[in-house]
Amino acid sequence: MNALAATSRNFRQAARLLGLDSKLQKSLLIPLREIKVECTIPKDDGSLATFVGFRVQHDNSRGPMKGGIRYHPEVDPDEVNALAQLMTWKTAVAAVPYGGAKGGIGCTPGELSRSELERLTRVFTQKIHDLIGTNTDVPAPDMGTNAQTMAWILDEYSKFHGHSPAVVTGKPIDLGGSLGRDAATGRGVMYATEALLTEHAESISGSTFVIQGLGNVGSWAAKLIHQKGGKIVAVGDVTGAIRNKSGIDIPALMKHRSEGGSLKDFYGAEVMEAAELLVHECDVLVPCALGGVLNRENAAEVKARFIIEGANHPTDTEADEILAKKGVIVLPDIYANSGGVVVSYFEWVQNIQGFMWDEEKVNRELQKYMKNAFQNIKDMCKSQNCNLRMGAFTLGVNRVAKATLLRGWEA
Ligand code: GLU
Repeated sequence: MNALAATSRNFRQAARLLGLDSKLQKSLLIPLREIKVECTIPKDDGSLATFVGFRVQHDNSRGPMKGGIRYHPEVDPDEVNALAQLMTWKTAVAAVPYGGAKGGIGCTPGELSRSELERLTRVFTQKIHDLIGTNTDVPAPDMGTNAQTMAWILDEYSKFHGHSPAVVTGKPIDLGGSLGRDAATGRGVMYATEALLTEHAESISGSTFVIQGLGNVGSWAAKLIHQKGGKIVAVGDVTGAIRNKSGIDIPALMKHRSEGGSLKDFYGAEVMEAAELLVHECDVLVPCALGGVLNRENAAEVKARFIIEGANHPTDTEADEILAKKGVIVLPDIYANSGGVVVSYFEWVQNIQGFMWDEEKVNRELQKYMKNAFQNIKDMCKSQNCNLRMGAFTLGVNRVAKATLLRGWEA
């Protein structure tokens, strides 16, 4: 089952629990708009290269649509569609006044030079500039994109519409970005982990962790979980995986990587099979990379008691069922990784107010949003008698359904 089928299935299950009628379900499920554009750029050597870019705008009943732009070879219409839909439920779970969207370009960013990436981003922005905007659809970074990508989008967009800092979030601080936005998804993962462990009378400092993925989300989650006293016994990235029973010195590992070192030659741990990472002994498993990494091949072997979904859709439907039978508690993506979009909201608010918050305020507010959402999910789990994923889905879908019904249908 691909990500779109799985996400839609979760939606339908939630909609049934909530008793939503089938016509409303159909209207909530089908995206508001799907955009597909051709992006041709001259490469540095003068040859032409053509890429396909997507933006799926899923729902805007609760506010402007919001979601990242992903640069990855596996970007395809179904995946973008699924991720856009997840954003609709994620913003609703987080209680930020947004709808959901997602974009992407099928490309391998590591094979493009900086100037090629800039040209590609500008061409993509030219093709979608009249469909995004501060009050319509606000992109942000995702896998393969970063603050620099947002700066190029902002600059290109501003040529058509005048300076509009709130048209994208996750910008560099010097262009109106928010303090704390870079760390926000990882920090949210840490707050979400804290909320879940506290609920089970456990703690970060008393637990062992395995973290998959050391991009923006995974590296910040690792740093902050380590700072809170969590023992990280194994980590992995695209190049491989390492482990250390007594805990990896995360600041030393980050320093090693920032100096150009790879995981495999880090002195403070031993190299392990990458495929073993997700089934390694630990209390808490935190997948922070691609979707679908937990599946029927490995789910039965998972040793962790808790899974925190730092990535979007890391657990496929079959794995979900296997893990539930084993009694593994899964904290779902639409809550666990919502810290990024919550601080995106703070950035947008700061841009509109023209007033910058200090980092302490950003982090304090983020913690408040993460705590509230967790409580709201728990309440839903109780009233619907369901697991955390369904608790989060019913919470999100219910808020979007209410907004849709309040708006009405008159043409
Ligand atoms: N790309 C991130 C996500 O999947 C952040 C989206 C945003 O900040 O708009 O949640």
